[in-house]
Amino acid sequence: MVHIQQLEKYAKDNNIPIMEHDGIEFLLDYIKNNNVKNILEIGSAIGYSAIRMCLVDESITVTTIERDEKRYNEAVKNIKDFNLEDRINIILDDAFNVELDDMYDLVFIDAAKSQYIKFFEKFKLNLKDDGVIVSDNLNFHGLTHTTEHIESRNVRGIVRKLNNYIDFLKNNEEFETTFYEIGDGVSISKRKL
Ligand code: SAH
Ligand code: MG
Repeated sequence: MVHIQQLEKYAKDNNIPIMEHDGIEFLLDYIKNNNVKNILEIGSAIGYSAIRMCLVDESITVTTIERDEKRYNEAVKNIKDFNLEDRINIILDDAFNVELDDMYDLVFIDAAKSQYIKFFEKFKLNLKDDGVIVSDNLNFHGLTHTTEHIESRNVRGIVRKLNNYIDFLKNNEEFETTFYEIGDGVSISKRKL
C-alpha cells in the first residue's frame, strides 16, 4: 500500500513542485465544503494533488493534464497504486492542445506560471456557471511581492507574468477573485452574478 507521505518524499527528493502543505489542505477543505464533484487540473506532475483531491470523497472525479512524459508516467503509476484509475483521467499533452467537452465545478491551474492568463481564458470555457477557477503559486516564493531586483532574467520574466495575471484577475469584468496568503499563494475566482 502506498502512502501520501511517500509521494511527498519522492517530490522533495526529485524537486517536483507539488502543492505546499497549507495550500493543499485549504484546497481540500474548499472541495469538501462546496460539494465540488468534477475537477479539471492543469499540471499533474506526479499526480499528488489529483490523488489528494480525489480522496476527499468517493464521488469526485478528476481530469488532469501533464506534458512531461517522465512525470506523467510516475503519475500513472501512483494513480494505479491508489486504485484511482476509474476516477482520475490523466492526459499526456500540452494543455493548449487539449480540447475538452466536459464542464467542471473546479478548474485548478498549476502549470507553467508564465501562461496563467492563457490557461484561464481557455479553460473558463469548461467551467460550469457556478464553478470556480483556483490558481496556485501566485506568491512564487514571495517574489511577486518583492520590490528588490531579481538577478535571474528568467525568474524576472516569470514574476512579471504572474504579476500581470494578478492584475488580470483584479481587473476582470467577468470573474471576482479572492486571494489567499496560504501555501505559495492561492486564488479563487468565481463568475460575477
Ligand atoms: N498539481 C501538482 C503540481 C504540478 S507542477 C501537485 O500539486 O501535485 C506543474 C506541472 O505542470 C509540471 O509537471 C509541468 O510539467 C506541467 N506543465 C507546465 N506547463 C504545462 C502545459 N502547458 N501543459 C501541461 N502541463 C504543463
Ligand atoms: Mg503549484
